[in-house]
Amino acid sequence: MPTLDIHNPATGALITRLAALDAAAVAAKAQAARAAQPAWARQPISERLGLVQRFRDAVAANIDSLAATLTAEVGKPISQARNELMGLLPRIDFFLERSESSLRDEHVFDGGGVHEQIGHEPLGVVACISAWNYPWFVGCNVILPALLAGNAVLYKPSEHATLSGHHLTRLLHQSGVPATLLQCLVGGGEVGAALALQDIDALCFTGSHATGLRIASAMAGRLVKLQLELGGKDPSYVRADADPKTAAESLADGAMYNTGQSCCAVERIYVHEAIHDAFVGHFLAAVAALRMGNPMDDASTLGAITRAPQIAVLQAQVADALAKGATLRCGGAAVPGPFDGQGNWFAPTVLTEVDHRMDLMREESFGPIIGIQKVADDATALALMNDSRYGLTASVYSADEAAARALLAQVRAGSVYWNCCDRVSPRLPWSGVGDSGMGLTLSTYGIQTFSRTKAWHLRHG
Ligand code: NAD
Repeated sequence: MPTLDIHNPATGALITRLAALDAAAVAAKAQAARAAQPAWARQPISERLGLVQRFRDAVAANIDSLAATLTAEVGKPISQARNELMGLLPRIDFFLERSESSLRDEHVFDGGGVHEQIGHEPLGVVACISAWNYPWFVGCNVILPALLAGNAVLYKPSEHATLSGHHLTRLLHQSGVPATLLQCLVGGGEVGAALALQDIDALCFTGSHATGLRIASAMAGRLVKLQLELGGKDPSYVRADADPKTAAESLADGAMYNTGQSCCAVERIYVHEAIHDAFVGHFLAAVAALRMGNPMDDASTLGAITRAPQIAVLQAQVADALAKGATLRCGGAAVPGPFDGQGNWFAPTVLTEVDHRMDLMREESFGPIIGIQKVADDATALALMNDSRYGLTASVYSADEAAARALLAQVRAGSVYWNCCDRVSPRLPWSGVGDSGMGLTLSTYGIQTFSRTKAWHLRHG
């Protein structure tokens, strides 16, 4: 029987060992989900909404204990774990408020004895293969609208956030979702790979570009709906007319929140030369004010690096940048952290005099590290922002809304921000361009994405 060890990335300690699935168990779960789905789909949506409302109440009643589990297994500061769970509640409210209207039949024509309507039917069995960095957000972005639309869900949480995945599944089961309709598949990448081979109707993946490509290749030759929410190299541009202090504080938070391990973290910054030095001063002050410490401590604002191999990626990006002429302004190396050298810790790192020859400005860092590049004008900044194979989010800081809008209209990204960054709204679609993925979640489009439209042509008489 395969097993999965769950470690605390802050201390290196083993939290628990779980039984994992083998390929035969994955297949059995997929068959059970297939069998359970039609009865679930036949229920009126009001029944399903009632269960999700109960789930929302259960999350709200257990925020402290769920946050403690999340922090223990991913190493994020406890205040940020609580923020994720509290931030989940308005997302659930959005799904509760908008699912019924988004999935209602649309009567689009009536005339000459003909009635035309659009129906929204469930896809069937949806596989959800998920990431660890915001397991409640990225899990629920798929699982809740998929369930509400009448689908069965096979949920493969990340091996680095499996305990949170277990709680998510358990609370939905306790709320009344049948155990065979929503199943949690414990294991690593091999369980995800086995899941992709099952008789499923859609696969929604959140994770790295490399794994996304592997899944897309494995699915080739089968007409299964595929959604890929992948990484980014999200740029920001600070125009000459921006307030350098306000922009620096906002962007330092955008780069370092969740210890830089957010898909929409700010990953590269371009600053107009007129305010570059002032901006860098304020940025360094904001980074110096961060408190790296025991993630369970409420005062900590920087936590551990969740996956140990990422330390080498960060170190290599620093070394490459320095070799090509960058200036290290702070950090730059792994540090012992608060547990006597145990766990995975990396100092918040800022580099200036950077350019696009450096991996730091081209490849996803996924850690507390940022490059700040001086630019002479808007046109150069725009060209640099678009000089990436990724396109998840992008931001512009400026006192001039029209100028910011004009730039953002030309940026290749799924989400754009004026005077803010690293922000997700349930009311807006979440999607990537290029190597940041395909398909979307959230918004009413992200509800309809879990249904299949059916065209009805009805002739009277
Ligand atoms: P990952 O690609 O390592 O793993 C993601 C999931 O895929 C895990 O559950 C893993 O077990 C599974 N997996 C691994 N190999 C597989 C295979 N061959 N077949 C099927 N499944 C397989 O990514 P991660 O480290 O968990 O997450 C970090 C990445 O996710 C970053 O790149 C980040 O930007 C991205 N991300 C994107 C979004 C978004 O909304 N666009 C949100 C969160 C994270």
